[in-house]
Amino acid sequence: MSWWSTASIRVRLTAWYTAVLTLLLVVYATATFVAVRHEFREQLEDLEHEQAAGVHSEARGSDEARLQQQLREILVVLALGLPLVVSLAGVGGYVLARRALAPIDHLAAAARRITADRLHERLSVPNERDEIGRLAAVINDTFARLEASFDQLRRFTADASHELRTPLAVVRGIGEMSVRDTRTPAEYKDAIGSMLEEVDRLTRLVDTLLRLSRGDAGTVRLAPQPLDLAGLARDVVSSLGVLAEERRQRIGVIASSAVPVVADRLVLRDAITNVVDNAIKYGPAGSAIDVTVAVDGRDATVSVTDRGPGISAEHRERIFDRFYRIDEGRSRDRGGAGLGLSIAKWAVEAHGGRIAVESAAGGSTFRIILPRKEAS
Ligand code: ADP
Repeated sequence: MSWWSTASIRVRLTAWYTAVLTLLLVVYATATFVAVRHEFREQLEDLEHEQAAGVHSEARGSDEARLQQQLREILVVLALGLPLVVSLAGVGGYVLARRALAPIDHLAAAARRITADRLHERLSVPNERDEIGRLAAVINDTFARLEASFDQLRRFTADASHELRTPLAVVRGIGEMSVRDTRTPAEYKDAIGSMLEEVDRLTRLVDTLLRLSRGDAGTVRLAPQPLDLAGLARDVVSSLGVLAEERRQRIGVIASSAVPVVADRLVLRDAITNVVDNAIKYGPAGSAIDVTVAVDGRDATVSVTDRGPGISAEHRERIFDRFYRIDEGRSRDRGGAGLGLSIAKWAVEAHGGRIAVESAAGGSTFRIILPRKEAS
């Protein structure tokens, strides 16, 4: 039966249709023949009664022979007509199936033309409500998702190259300047110090990119453990305290009790660190930053509120995109590559949570919301 599995739908439909039709016709022809024969038999019996009333017996014999002859003729017509009708119906079925399936062939040909560099093209959907229309809509949807992923990938590669180029150009510039003239050892030391700073920046950037791409590929294995979210927030604040001190900012954690969650400590720490680090970077010197850890129904939340410039609605959704910075120059001056929040978003979502931002002119509140799991 291997030809059956490799035969086209058109051929298989025709074969099914012909087989069912043959069966129906055989049943119909047999029933007709039996009914006709029964009718003839009755006629014959009527004749017998009449003849019993006195008609000649040869006439009766010839009547029966005539009826038998007629029955045979009917049988022959039925037996010969059946294959003819089936063959004609089979050809008709094949033509019908071909016509019905032709749009699928067109769809396949059109889909084949859409390659990686023509992903913006779509299949035409003549009737959205029929089966072919629904299929084309699903394929178009897939193309749209592919196009979005390709675009994101292209943008990511372009942005990453751009970010890597800047520190490399700085390292090169410092090196070229240093070798051009003879300098004092102190000047060389200075130049090497600046180069190392840029190299540090490059290393951090490459580490972050690697982490993001591992996150995308799903190869990061989380190691969840029961932990206290309030304790983790205090930990982050105490390690970033020096940065806040440098800017004379007051930063504190508000938490009424321990907030147990089950999470990967290092990954979640990164997320909270990035948000608190932003609050310090973008909050004005001398301002206050509040880190609040609370339980809200089935959620555990860490809210970080700063008194910075706020984030307008148009930027609010996009700040979680990779390499997105509202004020590129200023953000870069502060060491940002526009990746901090995308890392935080990934880390929180990997824990089944979400990250949200509320913002007004007087400051912003970033909220990390995690599903609460009672530590056993
Ligand atoms: P960066 O490393 O540049 O800080 P992020 O991904 O952490 O990148 O943030 C993206 C952008 O969002 C920043 O460039 C900044 O413009 C804006 N942003 C982030 N946090 C804040 C905040 N607390 N207040 C104002 N703007 C912020």
